[in-house]
Amino acid sequence: MIVVGLGGMGSAAAAQAASRGKRVLGIEQFQPAHDQGSSHGKSRVIRLAYFEDPAYVPLLRRAYEVWRRLEEQSGRQLLQITGGLMIGTPDSEVVAGSLRSAREHHLDHEVLDAAQIHARFPPLTPAAGLVALFEHEAGVVFPEEAIRAHLDAAADRGAHVHFDERVDGWDVASSGTVTVRTSRGRYESERLILAPGAWAAELFKIDWLPLEVEPQQLHWFEPSGGAAPFMPDRFPIYIWDISNGIQFYGFPADADDRVKVAFFRSKVKGEPAMRDALRACIPALADGALKETVSCRYTLTPDQHFVIGHHPEFGNVVIASPCSGHGYKFASVIGEILADLAIDGATRHPIALFAPERFR
Ligand SMILES: Cc1cc2nc3c(=O)[nH]c(=O)nc-3n(C[C@H](O)[C@H](O)[C@H](O)COP(=O)(O)OP(=O)(O)OC[C@H]3O[C@@H](n4cnc5c(N)ncnc54)[C@H](O)[C@@H]3O)c2cc1C
Repeated sequence: MIVVGLGGMGSAAAAQAASRGKRVLGIEQFQPAHDQGSSHGKSRVIRLAYFEDPAYVPLLRRAYEVWRRLEEQSGRQLLQITGGLMIGTPDSEVVAGSLRSAREHHLDHEVLDAAQIHARFPPLTPAAGLVALFEHEAGVVFPEEAIRAHLDAAADRGAHVHFDERVDGWDVASSGTVTVRTSRGRYESERLILAPGAWAAELFKIDWLPLEVEPQQLHWFEPSGGAAPFMPDRFPIYIWDISNGIQFYGFPADADDRVKVAFFRSKVKGEPAMRDALRACIPALADGALKETVSCRYTLTPDQHFVIGHHPEFGNVVIASPCSGHGYKFASVIGEILADLAIDGATRHPIALFAPERFR
């Protein structure tokens, strides 16, 4: 089996397929855990209460299990459980949608009013009338560490992984044999998994799939007044719905006392806009020194759900574009799904929401 792209999803798929005894060749155009695609920036939010759709919750439960298993196997810390706040007006998408999924799936949660949010997490200063769903299980997943853990797991199980090798094209012969052409040579296989992230439009060869690549900025601030109240033992991850569907999210302080914040799937960008959003919500960050800004690429679908399934023309080619700004937390279970689809032709996981055909 050939896996193209060894970022968040491809590294997981290679590890899963190799662990099932398959001969795996993974091909990546850059170095392991590079910063040119969608999986860099040190941290990703992971949460169970899912405002985007309650249908994600069973996948999230399995994602947590598989992440924890990978942590044990690799000896690396991949998750940091901090608790998570989904903040907004009671009828905002973030709050109402999270509550809906928490109730539907009986997830442990609390609902806090503005005064309770501030009392428990003093850097946050929500206006009266705002509320939050708080869940204890939410936290951080470390994407570069997780990619390395998946690549090590794949190599330990006999997978061959090639870096600095670009895939230029692929074809399926009438016999079903897949040929992959790269900057270094040609390879043949019975099965192909394409997990090329922001390069999906070029590699999928499906002209009706509406994928849009959009740069997004991540900002790290040094809080004015010090990082102590932002430490991960007392400060959660959060998504904050500020108005008109504009949301930003953030993390506890990292090991260098820097606090990361970013807009979520928003056209609003730049440091001044970020500070404006933070002013009323987290003043210690609005007034803090900006330490770093990094750009990272979203691959968006119009409905913001993932694209995962068999290629519409070739049953032995599996395509994966699980992004729209929220895919990383699922990488562990998506590796399982991609291996299921490529090896068994089907998966027990609920992926109807991600069918490529919905855009045909
Ligand atoms: C700013 C930002 C914030 C995010 N925040 C969150 C979050 O908090 N929580 C969350 O769950 N998700 C989040 N996401 C989404 C998540 O990071 C993505 O869903 C995930 O990284 C997608 O992984 P991927 O494997 O599809 O892409 P990538 O990790 O980019 O992997 C694709 C790989 O394919 C390789 N490739 C492409 N073309 C070729 C070729 N021709 N030949 C060889 N190799 C090739 C690329 O080099 C790359 O390594 C965020 C994304 C961004 C950009």
